Amino acid sequence: MSSQPYYWTDPMKGEFEVEIESILEANGHCYVRINEQVSKPAGGGQAGDKGVLIIEKKEYGFIDTILLDENTVFVMKNSPSRKGKALLKLDMSWRRAMMTNHTAEHIFVGSMKKKYPELKLGWIWVDGVHGTVVLEGKVIPLEEILDTETEVNRLIHDEIGVTTIVVQAAEVDESVRAREGVTSKNDAIRLVNVGKFDSSACSGIHVTNTREIRAFKITDVKAQEGNTHIEFVTGEIAVANLVEIYNIALTRKYSYPYEIEQLGAILDKSKTLQLSYEEAVEKILQLMKEGPNKVQLDTVTFWYEYLPGFEISTLRHLIKELKLQEPSVTLFLTTGKKTNIVLWTKGMPKDAAFYIIDIVENLGGRGGGSADAYTGGFTDVENPQELFLMIVERVRKKILE
Ligand SMILES: [Zn+2]
Repeated sequence: MSSQPYYWTDPMKGEFEVEIESILEANGHCYVRINEQVSKPAGGGQAGDKGVLIIEKKEYGFIDTILLDENTVFVMKNSPSRKGKALLKLDMSWRRAMMTNHTAEHIFVGSMKKKYPELKLGWIWVDGVHGTVVLEGKVIPLEEILDTETEVNRLIHDEIGVTTIVVQAAEVDESVRAREGVTSKNDAIRLVNVGKFDSSACSGIHVTNTREIRAFKITDVKAQEGNTHIEFVTGEIAVANLVEIYNIALTRKYSYPYEIEQLGAILDKSKTLQLSYEEAVEKILQLMKEGPNKVQLDTVTFWYEYLPGFEISTLRHLIKELKLQEPSVTLFLTTGKKTNIVLWTKGMPKDAAFYIIDIVENLGGRGGGSADAYTGGFTDVENPQELFLMIVERVRKKILE
């Protein structure tokens, strides 16, 4: 590049007198070339500037800036009325967000590279809304990424100066992050330094102090073919995002009701309930199609059901409503946060506990009961259905003893 683009030294200037050199219409768009290097073209993983050209008080918007044969070209929907002098007004909120997103990307990637030096920076994209980074060569655990998010926010809070300097490629050592081939392809290299924390070769636009980033928020993390794909936002978009998510929780706090700190537990519970609900629907369908699981063991009727998602109190209530045969043994197992088992007897020679207490204790559970009812429970059961079948088999043998 013959001279340095204006946005390298003063990225906060948003208005310029420019000279329109040519206007070309193609593919439903209009391409307008200007003489000055004042609008940042798309490239190096960063979007281009947006804004308007003003000619005789009429505004012509452009949706992107691109570089064509070293010239700055605006991509416009409507063709300006003529060539020559025009006033350029850049969309500064778009540019500022690009600056904060891009500088945050430097800090985040720099921080990840300190933890995992073998990581390679893959595809990146930063625009005036959000940023995307693909870190190649490792699937990084979410906790690790969120720890790095905290570190980025700490560096933002520390108000670190961000400086740029153009140096000879030969002066660039290994402490500088640079894409492969960058130092061999160019004579002069522009270094972007975030205090002493990170130094990288870059031709993009950056804030001058980390405080301008205000906030950094990871919004998505995905593992893709051994790489880690990360999405993030910064500045007022990050703040708006956090406020929105917080308020989704807050507006339900009083009607639910729950405490905000319990949100994680609420979501866990909701997942358990959802799974139990799906199992319960399956159970109801099975009961409708095949009827209850009842077998005759000599004179004794043995009824056993796997009932996911039921509360133990609901089962106790249910059993009072049921007209049980005599003699009979009824065994229900429920799942939820705990796995509970209930056994009722009617007209049997022994107490309810006799038929099940040893079985439950042998399988790691515990419980107790009265003459005709036994209640037991298990914690951390991985496969309650398998447990249930095991209990059914053993109770069946016990009844036949
Ligand atoms: Zn940069």
